Amino acid sequence: MELTPEQITAIAEAKRGGYEAVIGLEVHVQLKTASKIFCGCSTRFGDPPNTNVCPVCLGLPGALPVLNREAVELAIRAALALNCRVNPSSRFARKNYFYPDLPKGYQISQYDQPLSEHGWLEIEVSPEAGASGLGAEKRVLSPEASLGSARDKGASGVNTEKEKATKRVGITRLHLEEDAGKSLHEGFPDSGEKTYLDFNRCGVPLVEIVSEPDLRTPQEAYDYLTRLKQILQYIEVSDCDMEKGSLRCDANVSVRRLGAEKFGVKTEVKNLNSFRYLARALEHEIARQVAVLESGGVIEQETRLWNLAAGRTEPMRSKEYAHDYRYFPEPDLVPLVVDEAWQERIRATMPELPEAKRVRFIREYGISEYDAEVLTATRALADYFEAAAKAAPDGKLAANWIQSELLGLLKEAGKEIEDSPVGPGALGELLKLVAAGTLSGKMGKSIFQKMFATGKRASEIIVAEQMQQITDASEIDRLCREVLAANAPQVEAYKRGKEALFGFFVGQVMKASRGQANPQMVNEVLKKLLGGVARDWCPVARDSC
Ligand SMILES: [Zn+2]
Repeated sequence: MELTPEQITAIAEAKRGGYEAVIGLEVHVQLKTASKIFCGCSTRFGDPPNTNVCPVCLGLPGALPVLNREAVELAIRAALALNCRVNPSSRFARKNYFYPDLPKGYQISQYDQPLSEHGWLEIEVSPEAGASGLGAEKRVLSPEASLGSARDKGASGVNTEKEKATKRVGITRLHLEEDAGKSLHEGFPDSGEKTYLDFNRCGVPLVEIVSEPDLRTPQEAYDYLTRLKQILQYIEVSDCDMEKGSLRCDANVSVRRLGAEKFGVKTEVKNLNSFRYLARALEHEIARQVAVLESGGVIEQETRLWNLAAGRTEPMRSKEYAHDYRYFPEPDLVPLVVDEAWQERIRATMPELPEAKRVRFIREYGISEYDAEVLTATRALADYFEAAAKAAPDGKLAANWIQSELLGLLKEAGKEIEDSPVGPGALGELLKLVAAGTLSGKMGKSIFQKMFATGKRASEIIVAEQMQQITDASEIDRLCREVLAANAPQVEAYKRGKEALFGFFVGQVMKASRGQANPQMVNEVLKKLLGGVARDWCPVARDSC
């Protein structure tokens, strides 16, 4: 049943509250290897079409695949980071289907014996969302639950003991497979009648990461994908660039009445190729399903495509079932054996993961949870912060300056933290000068901007522009005396009770020192001098003052 957008909106607005969504994500991630998974062709993105191909990835008769060890290592790395159990033996399988961009007529994937299973990652949830999270916990205890979730039942569901509730989202499996080619439907003079094929992507290694149906809202799905991407980038298995297609996401979505145990019929929504539209597409599909059910229809198990321009999901094809693919073990590849020792070697090279880093930053540098979240967003930013914090007098100061000064300038310049003209050591050096009072906060910021624009260090700029803060007591004393001597009428007025003029004197001294005098010392010296003005600075009536 296809309803009009107006019908969907109207019905969903009235009835959405009585339903709960059940969402699982299937994420495909291209692994960052130099060559393809079963041949030596380059995986480079953006090369001219059909230049990185050979008999193996074109599926020519008699060509035999050879497994790329690096692809396996990156996949194991991802599996370990996502708390998956790596199976000691796994097997490749042929997934048979016809599609123009699949020259072999089958895709080499993994089916009944995947590389790894039973993993999880944690997302933060708001307290209201926690209620449905408890539902998820109940579900994983039911017989249909996966072994992994049942095994970890003590830790699954919502942990409300922390300040923010965390929810553990199960990962059913992570397996290896090859990518297909690309069909180009536009960009050619005869694109109206013809589809062009680029086989460069055929055989680029992928991992498919399938979540449990543990997600309950589009926001949770968004958060899950964000965390997943963050972890995969930290461990450097993929650049996860959605624009280049190195991270792609499909969602399985169903709805059920609140309190119902049984899952509804699900649809698969494809083409969720941007974070921005993921939540919107899911929101729309949930509303559509509620509207169909409420108007007496049934949900067809089908694959739907997110149409960005139209802002809705559209039917693409009826959902295929596993038996449609005639899976069978790949006869040209031996089983993949991963022993403990291999896993351990990979584990030993694993960097600190974002969650562990957040906790450690809060403990070691005394920064807030919010700051830790921002500063661990990418591994490069976290590394920058840590190096700056070590070079600076304290971590909190470094955290503040990075967030209030550096990130803004980077954004303005369209630069990534990796390309920051101010290195963490240079920032630390500047912060030492600010903390020691050699520079005022204001001067520090002005110098920082110059450092960013020129790439020079603080010390160079200070020398070149003679910007050092004046903290020498006799020098400040001299400046104050000069200003008072030059402004005798104002001093006179001040003495007669016009105290507001004090600010004027401070301003004049700051001006005379080109903003370099330490303002606190100027204040103190002026107070002293104006108090004692009778003797030293009352040129009008020396005796009577
Ligand atoms: Zn090839």
